[in-house]
Amino acid sequence: MSLNGKTAIITGSTSGIGLGIARKLAAAGADIMLNGFAAAAAVDAIKAELSAARVRVGYSSADLTKPEQVRAMVAQSVSELGGVDILVNNAGIQHVSPIEEFPQDKWDSIIALNLSAAFHAVKAALPAMKAKGWGRIINIASAHGLVGSAHKAAYVAAKHGLVGLTKVIALETANDGITANSICPGWVLTPLVEKQIADRAEANGTTVGQERTALLSEKQPMHQFSTPDDLGDLVLFLASGAGASITGAALSMDGGWTAQ
Ligand code: NAD
Repeated sequence: MSLNGKTAIITGSTSGIGLGIARKLAAAGADIMLNGFAAAAAVDAIKAELSAARVRVGYSSADLTKPEQVRAMVAQSVSELGGVDILVNNAGIQHVSPIEEFPQDKWDSIIALNLSAAFHAVKAALPAMKAKGWGRIINIASAHGLVGSAHKAAYVAAKHGLVGLTKVIALETANDGITANSICPGWVLTPLVEKQIADRAEANGTTVGQERTALLSEKQPMHQFSTPDDLGDLVLFLASGAGASITGAALSMDGGWTAQ
């Protein structure tokens, strides 16, 4: 699968799933616009690693909870890399708490990043995609875009919203050479999930190993984590010619979580 000549923005690509996706798209030949929070040395190391595939790699430090910074990231991709052909809205955060205790600022920031940032990025990127008559929009939702879990009000609301937003983008772009899909992962062992496991171990007086096993067995019939590489392969498939008529879909990679 060659993505030579294509440019991809992957939000939240300094860590976890986003970094896995950036690695796969770079290896396939796409120029990459990285984004996310990280120390300058860490960003330089990722840029050097991805550049080994002989692709151009840019970095936007945009805080995507701020709409003007989302727009600036898209504009930077157009000016530095010549466009935005593939947009992967991946950056996301979590907060776990019952609704009565859910802090307002956590609700606001989760909705801003996990949902609204995707809207602002798509709105800014569509003119460049339409001008080329080609585009791929891939929104990293979650199993929580399809089903709920207690204590994750903002996250579940945002991810359900993202799945719905993706369907509308697909309908509006159906004859523009653009596809829009969401991917709904189950558990992937990244810093976002490692924090939840550590918090549970502290609250329950258990070990991280015990909580890792408990986390999987509570929700996921398949007792193993998906990997950022697995997610990268699915994004690559959607970006390839094989994905040309897959649009408006919510594709699960969840070890059977939502089959129940
Ligand atoms: P992660 O914590 O490893 O990475 C999150 C990335 O987002 C980092 O690069 C971080 O710097 C960036 N980020 C955070 N706040 C930002 C902001 N305001 N502006 C710009 N970038 C910001 O998390 P992950 O597990 O790789 O999650 C990536 C996506 O996958 C998220 O949307 C998450 O909801 C989703 N997801 C994860 C899992 C899982 O099990 N890990 C499961 C389903 C869905």
